[in-house]
Amino acid sequence: MKIALYPGSFDPVTFGHLDIIHRSAGVFDELVVGVLNNRQKNALFSINERVNMIKELTKDIPNLRVESFDGLMVDYAREIHATAVIRGLRAVTDFEYELQIAQSNKIQYPELETIFLTTDIHYSYLSSTIVREFASYGGDISHFVPASIIPKIMDKYHTDKKE
Ligand code: ADP
Repeated sequence: MKIALYPGSFDPVTFGHLDIIHRSAGVFDELVVGVLNNRQKNALFSINERVNMIKELTKDIPNLRVESFDGLMVDYAREIHATAVIRGLRAVTDFEYELQIAQSNKIQYPELETIFLTTDIHYSYLSSTIVREFASYGGDISHFVPASIIPKIMDKYHTDKKE
């Protein structure tokens, strides 16, 4: 049973993330999407909101679990018996950071392999930051995220915060 962990902030989840989720679920027996409860980051969505949005959008994938985690990714990976961690690579700019993280994680947990999936060509520009930026100005985010979560994102800026 090969378990892979796909960790991230997913604030909010985008088509780029969903593409990586679908593709890696096809390669592993079980995929766990780990939503990082990063207290330092000023998140747009609460941890439960982020987990529930991903659950709703991936309910058709049988070998997938969506959970939140605190603290070090390697500790969580060990806890769930993951032998691989999935990361998406968009551009060269991702590479240096990801290499550093992968190599330091390897020292902490040698049995854990980091597997990089290259982004789908349609989503190489896409990040949660871009989604938040466009949404904050009331822009069109329909190319970035599924239609079902657009109102939830817009509400954050144009109802809750009155920005
Ligand atoms: P971070 O760890 O910076 O909070 P995110 O939560 O945004 O990252 O993303 C989690 C993972 O998804 C990372 O490996 C990131 O490279 C990957 N990712 C994000 N956006 C895309 C995209 N458009 N295409 C492919 N992979 C992506």
